[in-house]
Amino acid sequence: MIALKTARELALMREAGKIAAEALRLVGEAVRPGVTTAQLNQIAHRAITRHGAVPTFLGYNGFPAAACISVNDEIIHGIPSARRVLREGDLVSVDLGATYQGYVGDTAASFAAGVLSPEARRLSDTTRESLFQGIGAAVAGGKLGDIGAAVQRHCEAQGYSLVREYTGHGVGRALHEDPAVPNVGLPGHGIRLKPGMVLAIEPMVNQGRMEIRTMPDKWTIKTRDGKLSAHFEHTVAITPDGPVILTMGES
Ligand code: MG
Repeated sequence: MIALKTARELALMREAGKIAAEALRLVGEAVRPGVTTAQLNQIAHRAITRHGAVPTFLGYNGFPAAACISVNDEIIHGIPSARRVLREGDLVSVDLGATYQGYVGDTAASFAAGVLSPEARRLSDTTRESLFQGIGAAVAGGKLGDIGAAVQRHCEAQGYSLVREYTGHGVGRALHEDPAVPNVGLPGHGIRLKPGMVLAIEPMVNQGRMEIRTMPDKWTIKTRDGKLSAHFEHTVAITPDGPVILTMGES
């Protein structure tokens, strides 16, 4: 069951998206060597709550923080920690959500602590580009598989692999709604995309092989081969005039 959002709901989701976008921007500006992931989480928490929004991830299935912060070979769902001190060259993926008047904005990006290696920079750039390829395919009348196909094509052309076990998703009153939005797919396959659908599109791209492993904390997901992973995400509304990114923020 896919909930189509009304104009009023989309307006509220735009507000939620703006708050999430600003929080992500502020966290990104604070990413540097010497900072702890707990400090970054605190920035996210404050940025979300000061606008009267609620950190969507805090308490979600028991997650203990406002942001997931995943470093280097950690793909997603890293738990912020006062013991995790960023080092020069770390690739830091931050994922957060803001719930505003009952509606969720969900967004993620990978940031550099200091200067990335050329390999890490290329992975991060390619992942961001693939998100925008996917967004470009999120058009009314198209098919869900068009999105994953666009993401997959862009990343695999660079020799990277896509995580299969975790996907993008519908988003609205709940953080995770139907449909699942895989980062791989076949053009022209899957459900038809309609105005009023809101999708979180979020490629998780591995430098090496696609396989993952779950750490003993039961949250952190890492690459099995120990190579890097990057993650970018936007909440995107499908409209008659094309995709609208709700988590773009002010520029
Ligand atoms: Mg998401």
